[in-house]
Amino acid sequence: MSGVAYVNGAYLPLARAGVSIEDRGFQFADAVYEVWGVRDGRLMDEAGHFARLWRSLKELRIAAPMAQTSLRAVLLETKRRNRVRDGIIYLQISRGAAPRDHGFPNPPVSPSVIVTAKSLDQRKITARMERGVSVITAPDNRWGRCDIKTVGLLPNVLARQTAMEAGAYDCWFVGTGGYVTEGSASNAWIVDKSGALRTAPLSANILHGVTRAAFIALARAHQMRVVEESFTVADVKEAREAFLTSASNAALPVISIDGTPIGDGKPGDIAARLRAAYERAA
Ligand code: PMP
Repeated sequence: MSGVAYVNGAYLPLARAGVSIEDRGFQFADAVYEVWGVRDGRLMDEAGHFARLWRSLKELRIAAPMAQTSLRAVLLETKRRNRVRDGIIYLQISRGAAPRDHGFPNPPVSPSVIVTAKSLDQRKITARMERGVSVITAPDNRWGRCDIKTVGLLPNVLARQTAMEAGAYDCWFVGTGGYVTEGSASNAWIVDKSGALRTAPLSANILHGVTRAAFIALARAHQMRVVEESFTVADVKEAREAFLTSASNAALPVISIDGTPIGDGKPGDIAARLRAAYERAA
């Protein structure tokens, strides 16, 4: 893949971009990340992603590598150098490189910062939105701090792979009590049989999706009823519609779960209306 990455102060061709094998992101997944959607050259929900980044760093006690204004300039420059109009910007910050030892390096080392940006094929995304996607479910076997956006994504990777091998797009995790927590890289939503929008409440068991927050605000602004209450797989099967939200997908309709069609088995109107409002608001 061609392209340019920012790595610790330098812009490098991807093929030559790299960090030390002693980087703690590589050794321990001791790193956080963020993803900004880019539409028409602009960052989506910019402030929300920055706020979550600072929170993730704070929770892991990784020092902020630079001020938000400087980091923003790096994101925009990486986007520019990769000529991204519609796509995503990826940022990863690790605790830095140090001889392998579980405890934090003492004295502390500088965090490693990498930024990449890539275009996403909008025709493919639109076609997927129009078709809708299928999900399967699997037990949520992740750790107890899914609210921190760390690069420790092995359960998510395995869940996605299982979904793909089953011919589905994604996997929705099912946690304690049989409640759906979230997708492997997205928040899960239904329009329940009473017509209310439902998504799991904020807790340590889900990532506090920035797109989730934007959609809650938009739905309320459009006089839609939103409840932050968990739902089961049975609730999904009885729902009028379902969708997932993420920075890269906005709102993607989910038309079946574990092989059972949801609603009439077609992408729902509410997800489409909200998505249109989201794009307009951006
Ligand atoms: N949950 C998980 C596990 C994710 O990886 C993501 C995407 N990063 C989301 C939810 C959605 O978050 P956002 O809307 O901020 O992209």
